[in-house]
Amino acid sequence: MSIQTKQTETTGWEYSPALESTQVIIEPKNKLFIDGKFVSPKSRSWFATLNPSNEEKLADISCGGKADVNAAVLAAKKALPKWSKLDGSIRAKYLYRIARRIQERSRELAILETMDGGKPIKESRDVDLPLVAQHFFYCAGWADKLEYAFPGRTVSSVGVCAQIIPWNFPLLMAAWKLAPALACGNTCVLKPAETTSLTALRLAEIIQEVGLPDGVVNIVTGAGDTGRFLAEHKAVNKVAFTGSTEVGKLLMRTTAGSRKKLTLELGGKSANIIFADAAIDQAVEGIISGIYFNQGHVCCAGSRLFVEEPILDEVIQKLTHRLRSLRVGDPLDKNTDLGAINSQAQLETVQGYIRKGVDEGAQLHEVNTERLPSKGYWCNPCFFTDVQPSHTIAREEIFGPVLSVMTFRTPQEAITRANNSPYGLAAGIWTDKGSKIFEIAKELDAGVIWCNTYNKFDAASPFGGFKESGFGREGGVQGLRPYVRLQHVKGGTS
Ligand code: NDP
Repeated sequence: MSIQTKQTETTGWEYSPALESTQVIIEPKNKLFIDGKFVSPKSRSWFATLNPSNEEKLADISCGGKADVNAAVLAAKKALPKWSKLDGSIRAKYLYRIARRIQERSRELAILETMDGGKPIKESRDVDLPLVAQHFFYCAGWADKLEYAFPGRTVSSVGVCAQIIPWNFPLLMAAWKLAPALACGNTCVLKPAETTSLTALRLAEIIQEVGLPDGVVNIVTGAGDTGRFLAEHKAVNKVAFTGSTEVGKLLMRTTAGSRKKLTLELGGKSANIIFADAAIDQAVEGIISGIYFNQGHVCCAGSRLFVEEPILDEVIQKLTHRLRSLRVGDPLDKNTDLGAINSQAQLETVQGYIRKGVDEGAQLHEVNTERLPSKGYWCNPCFFTDVQPSHTIAREEIFGPVLSVMTFRTPQEAITRANNSPYGLAAGIWTDKGSKIFEIAKELDAGVIWCNTYNKFDAASPFGGFKESGFGREGGVQGLRPYVRLQHVKGGTS
């Protein structure tokens, strides 16, 4: 591959600007996407979305009110009969078109994701966007094969789906929700998170470009109340939510007794377990990606590290060395490892947890001394040692670049300590012994377990949790299940 350079009179030979440094044109006022059109909010209410890396305003976003949510749900309801009866192969064609268009516009989408959310461009470009396209491709493949996904049953759609998503992987979460729902013949109303609506609205443009029938996908931006109105709407048949356990519990109450289907993908406090016989250098890379990927704004982040006692000093020394090399700064620079914290509120939350860790007696290691930009929401990655299981930082989800390091002496102790959490989303096991992996994995209360790796995602692989991490799966054939009604050939539904 050749690198293009340009000569300037004043400074000599310099690299051409990277594609990622190209500014993306952003509409100053962003409307709602209802019934195939961009419309102004009936609420007449707007809010600003900021670039968290410099606090500059990017645009105004519509704040959907009750009447807007109602219009979106009714549009989805109107579109349902035709869409759900469409031959699966035709629905697949629309999904393939969306996937291809996402690939074509992926640079623009990656830049926008980084500007609006603060994550490093190398992650939005190389992780988020490829996975977004993959989920649409993957679900397109199932759209005309649903009877093979659920053999011996007749398959029908659930109906109108309310889909509420968070800010940590905005476009990817939209893909996780929309792709399986559409493949199974449902219509959707999507509510993005307040701080990260812009890429969902670009997806709305793509939906228009590919000619998806009006009303099949509606996107209502707004605040927590917008999500609440949506989940409460009587014409909604299914609620799919990713976000905090607190709001997940509220939604359980909202949907209880309503015959609405519900899936919840909630928080986590995942254990990353390193045995003494593991390949330590690889394990340290796994620790780094486990907790510092996306500034730690990852529900399955390996935020509790359990190290077998004899190798603690070696792991800490190598972790310290590796942490020093991480670059924190401009998210649009492709050499950046950690970008900005998503919002002022989240930064305060993370800082609050760091203070609590110190106050409760754990030892803070802030070895990364990158000079942080003067504007924006920034937090250097760090870790704590001398952490007790009762410490707040060992129990609660921080959702930031903060790791709690603890030790164990026997495999059973590792299992007991890892399972000592109200959450059960993910775990990592690092060992040279395959049999140990199987023995430990079957004892862990976690929906996803990575072995000798961490944070690997694939559209064909189901993702989801146990306990307070929620229920239902996204991805894989299991991810289609929440979006279908099944009838046994001899009768009865499930
Ligand atoms: P929330 O659960 O508050 O938000 C997730 C989504 O739900 C957003 O779209 C939000 O809208 C919406 N929402 C908020 N309140 C309601 C409600 N009453 N009814 C329906 N929808 C609602 O998470 P936050 O984004 O505020 O993050 C807080 C914490 O949640 C984080 O610190 C982290 O611990 C956890 N979290 C977990 C995620 C995961 O992937 N498991 C992802 C994000 C957060 P709005 O953005 O407008 O508030």
